[in-house]
Parts: sequence; C-alpha cells; structure tokens
Amino acid sequence: MAQDSPATHKPSASLVIRNIGLLLSGDLDNPILDADTVLAVDGKIRAIGTQKDIDSEGATVIDAKGTTLAPGLIDSHVHPVAGDWTPRQNQLGWIDSYLHGGVTSMISAGEVHTPGRPKDVVGLKAMAIFAQRAFSAFRPGGVRIHAGAPVLEHGMVEEDFKDLAAAGVTMLGEVGLGSVKDGSTDHQMVGWARKYGIQSTIHTGGPSIPGSSLIDKDVVLAADADVIGHINGGHTALPDDQIEILCEKSARALEIVHNGNERAGLLTLRTASELRQLPRIILGTDSPAGSGVQPLGILRLLALLSSLGNVPAEVAICFATGNTAKIRNLNCGLIAPERDATFVLMDRAQHSAGKTLLKSIEAGDLPGIGMVIIDGVVAAQRSRNTPPATTLPELLKT
Ligand SMILES: [Zn+2]
Repeated sequence: MAQDSPATHKPSASLVIRNIGLLLSGDLDNPILDADTVLAVDGKIRAIGTQKDIDSEGATVIDAKGTTLAPGLIDSHVHPVAGDWTPRQNQLGWIDSYLHGGVTSMISAGEVHTPGRPKDVVGLKAMAIFAQRAFSAFRPGGVRIHAGAPVLEHGMVEEDFKDLAAAGVTMLGEVGLGSVKDGSTDHQMVGWARKYGIQSTIHTGGPSIPGSSLIDKDVVLAADADVIGHINGGHTALPDDQIEILCEKSARALEIVHNGNERAGLLTLRTASELRQLPRIILGTDSPAGSGVQPLGILRLLALLSSLGNVPAEVAICFATGNTAKIRNLNCGLIAPERDATFVLMDRAQHSAGKTLLKSIEAGDLPGIGMVIIDGVVAAQRSRNTPPATTLPELLKT
C-alpha cells in the first residue's frame, strides 16, 4: 500500500475476521485465546468469540483460512527522522518495509540522526514538537509512529519539561545520547520528565557510533529511566554481571534489541525468566543504524529468543505486543475489547521444518505474513518481505 496519512486512513465501519486457526492475545497471562472470530467496529475490537455467536451483518469479511492472528507488532526502539526517509543508510520507504514485517507501531528513541540536529535548548524542544506533530499526521503504510523524543542536553531546566509536556511531547529520546551523561543529572532530568508525564529510556552499554559514549550499570541505576534501553547493547553490551544486576536491582523495563549483542539478549531473557520478570521484557530493533534497516528485525528477534531462549513462541510474541503496550501505555498490542483493531495474520513459512506456526518459530524460522490490519483497515496483504506463508487469508467482501 502506498504511503498514507490519517486523512486517507479512515477506519472502515466494521470488519470481521473468521476462521482463525490460532488466536494469540499478546497477554502473557493468557497468550492463547479459545476463539475463531474477531469483530472490529470503527477501528476498535468489539467482540471475540465463535462465528455463530458474533453478529457481523454488513461487515467487511476476512477468511483467515485457519491461519494465526496476533496483535500487530510494536518496535519499541527506532530512530526516525522525517517522513519515510532515513539518512542513516540513506533509504526511502523503510517504515513501509517494516509494515511488511508485521510492525504496526513504532516508538522513537530519539530523532538523533537528523542532519544538523539542534543541541541548544530552544532548538531541541522545537525539533521534538515538530517530530511529534509530523509523525502524528503522517503514517507510512498506516504504521503509527510515536515520535518527538528529545535527548537531554545541559542547560535544560524543569520548566522545559513542563513546556514539552504541555506541547504534546510524551517521551524522551535515549538518555545519554545528548550532552548529559552523568547519573545524577540524568536522575534529576528523568524525574522532571516523569513529573510531567514524559516517559524515559536510557542508552545502555558501549558507544553505538563514534561520538556516543559508555553508559554502565551505575549510571543506568542512578538515572532510573522507565526503560533500560537496549540492555543487550546497541551494539556493545555491558559485562554479564552488570546485565544481571540491572535485571535484579531495577524494576524498569528490559528492552532487548535486534541491533544488539544476541548472546547478551539471551542472557537478559534467561535472567528475567529466573526472576519471574518476563512482563518487563520488550523488544525493539534500534534501527535504522550502522547495521542497517531490518524490516524483519522484530520477527528475527522473536525467532531468536524463542528458539535459543527456550521460550514458547506465543510467549515471545507477547514481548513485542502486550508487554510493550502495557509499558508504553498504548491501546494496541492486545486482543481484547476496545483495544485497537490492529492485527497481523501469519502462518508457518512454506517448507518450514516446524509443522505449526508456533513450532516453526520455536525451530528458529520466521513466520510468513499473510495480511496486516491497522485500525480495522487492511494495510498490507501478502508480505513482500517475509518468506511466503503456507496459507494466506482472503479478503472476501468489502
Ligand atoms: Zn542507544
């Protein structure tokens, strides 16, 4: 689908998806639902149940053909700049490509790749407000991008956070990417942000690119940001004992990213599992980056964590859906009444050794995506990027 904006992305009145073979809720407490039909009205989930019990008269009909329906995936860590362009690897259309990897929502960890990024306080506030407005009004392929995430620079005072919140800014970019890097100043500014309802994420680990710097466990614990951003490094990870201490001593979200250290990501998963802290695990790509743009990055992380981390696939999917929605206060990410009607329909890839969708992910394969629906509207049919799904859903009546 072409690039889109809310003006053209109107939710259809009602949409019913029937014949769902496996319904994944995104909720860790109950990841598989016993239902085969989902009805959406005005972009929100209205009913979940069996076909005979749901009145879907007049609705657009999708036959899932026995495939799997899950909430649309959320990428908790991206670095957008403007529109559907990234200067980091000079690519156009990268967000639309992620849609074809099942990603329906993205969260900016700072628009730090903006050429000539302003570092004075007035300039950084203006840029954050601009990004929040621009990405609210522009949704490539229908993907919802939560952006406008300023990084902390020296000279910011409490009033600046109050101003940002009043102007609609809801989150900080990665703490540590600006000039403020010491734990005590981080702590003060994160506290001001929190006071005005602005969520925070901190860079964790070694420098990402020349010019950025190390953030170790002591700084992360002192700053006490809401999300321990890329706890597995972006790309250089902290030593294992520091990662274990962050899992144990902090109660904040543990973000594992694709563009991080994979072994450290698995260590985080194992440690969180032993501590019974899986609700804190959320996933991102930390892209675009030096490692590139990864349209299938979240799917690849799901397969990695499930296959090598010994986590059931339906649980891994919660990390990229319901967990992130709960921690980020989003209305998507869960299959439940009044949640956003934002879904991905998928099936085992053709010729996967895994005999079901879940078994194929647990075997380390990527699923094939057959359809993506955002706010009750079909945003993409068969993915141009995943391996082909064995069975495709069908749009029957519009
Ligand atoms: Zn980072």
